Parts: sequence; structure tokens; C-alpha cells
Amino acid sequence: MKLTTLKPSLRPAPSGLRLAAAPDPIGTERMRGRRAVEARARYLRLHPLCVACGSAGAVTVATEVDHVVPLALGGSDTDANKQALCGECHRGKTKRDLAEIAAQRGA
Ligand SMILES: [Zn+2]
Repeated sequence: MKLTTLKPSLRPAPSGLRLAAAPDPIGTERMRGRRAVEARARYLRLHPLCVACGSAGAVTVATEVDHVVPLALGGSDTDANKQALCGECHRGKTKRDLAEIAAQRGA
């Protein structure tokens, strides 16, 4: 019995093909990946309660980290520009942020 060699099934990628991160059109580069997950977890350990609920006199566990000034509006990705929010407050804030961003880009 004659053994034959199988042809390789993998071909080299065409040269010139590169993975490029899509640049953020406006604003600060957002931290991504595992580093971002760890940074969020660390922030929430230090700030466990929703600040928006807190200013309304309610105590709610924060589950999300928000940029006070959105990155798209020039805010920085630093703790000084972050606040801990619950999901509901974060959704409301994001809605207002998106309206503001749309208004600024349309102007
Ligand atoms: Zn809240």
C-alpha cells in the first residue's frame, strides 16, 4: 500500500492583509479587553453604590461604570471622570449623552 501525503489545508494569508483597530473618530481612546474588565471591577469595589440613586436619597448597588463626560465629548478614561451607576441610571445617562453627542455633531 502506498502512503500519500495530504496537501496542506492552510494557506498563508495574502500579504498586505492587516488587522487594524478602528480608530475612535472623536474622543479619547477607550480601554478595552481584560484590562478594561479589571479596571471596571476595581472601580466598582471602591465605589459600590449608584451615585445618581444616592443623590436622590436611595441606596442602590452600582453595576456599571460611567464616564461623567463621555469619551466622545472629550472626557478622559480616568477615575476622575468616572462614576458608579446602577443599570437603570446608566441607561438614562447614556440616552442623554447620545442626544448631546448628536447635537454637537449636528451643529
Ligand atoms: Zn441608580
